[in-house]
Amino acid sequence: MKAVYAEENFKIGLRDIPVPEIRPDEVLIRMTYTGICGSDLHAYRGMHAFRKPPVMLGHEIAGEVVKAGADVRRTEPGEHVTVMPQIGCGCCAHCKSGRVNLCGNKILPGTAGWGGTFGEYFAAPESAVCGLKGVPDKLGALTEPLAVANHVMKRAALHPSGDLVILGSGTLGLMTLAIATSYGFTRVLVTDIADYNLEQARALGAVRTVNVAREDLEQRVKETFGEEGVSNVVIAAGGPQILEQALSITGRGGTITYFAMITCPMTLNTYPIVFKELQVQGSMNYTMEDFEDAVRLLKEKPECFERLITHVFPLEEAGKAFEILDQRKEPAVKILLRSE
Ligand SMILES: [Zn+2]
Ligand SMILES: [Zn+2]
Repeated sequence: MKAVYAEENFKIGLRDIPVPEIRPDEVLIRMTYTGICGSDLHAYRGMHAFRKPPVMLGHEIAGEVVKAGADVRRTEPGEHVTVMPQIGCGCCAHCKSGRVNLCGNKILPGTAGWGGTFGEYFAAPESAVCGLKGVPDKLGALTEPLAVANHVMKRAALHPSGDLVILGSGTLGLMTLAIATSYGFTRVLVTDIADYNLEQARALGAVRTVNVAREDLEQRVKETFGEEGVSNVVIAAGGPQILEQALSITGRGGTITYFAMITCPMTLNTYPIVFKELQVQGSMNYTMEDFEDAVRLLKEKPECFERLITHVFPLEEAGKAFEILDQRKEPAVKILLRSE
């Protein structure tokens, strides 16, 4: 089958590899759509923590089950599914409490012998398969990033408030915005440095958008939410100043939820955390519950998520897709690869 690899830094290659063999507890999925994630771009640039070229990329998938192992019970060939791409060890305290995202020994696509999703077929254990329940495959490929956003919103909503600032409006920032009302946030301000993404944010209901490359964020936050600042902030972008930005706009007793994968060290003035008694919390991936929530959200408001898919390329043109994401020469939010 055809498979897309990051062969070396900034070089995508198409390989011909065997269709994966399935174990008794696994299903074989014929991929229809697979999304390119920010972490795939990291790997392409040679900056990913553990996915180093040469590596088969991809972990966001929708497709049709074409084969089921002997021990598979709930899933049948012909079913359209996505996959929650984390296999926990099953025996640690986190796995036992349903928080597979925190398992220290979990297996991810592109590691430990599990292939990536950027190929014509993908094998996955039945326990990681999530039915699309009528959501079309093209939208279904967004389940994984939407599950990330859902997990973030659940964490943010642990400290309820109506007001929210989302720093960054890439795919995940925009998805977080699209579901914010479902978590009780009624007024959302969104930032970015790309006008196209801010336009998308306005279309998705942001009460205000701020281009931080040319506007004063603190000032805009005060105009929107009052002198005190905002009570809830979600960090959905990297960048060296992003934490300082969040600390400066969050009001007393506020909450910052942080899920951007920033791997470089940064210095930080921590005084506002104490002075304003802030809660600063992380959000890591998702659980199967988030996947089920995400499928439901895709079904409830497909129009919010369809608009985020700006490009679709066949597997053969994956190199072009990565160039667009890397060089940002044209507006792009979510790029899908297809194989049909
Ligand atoms: Zn992803
Ligand atoms: Zn575990």
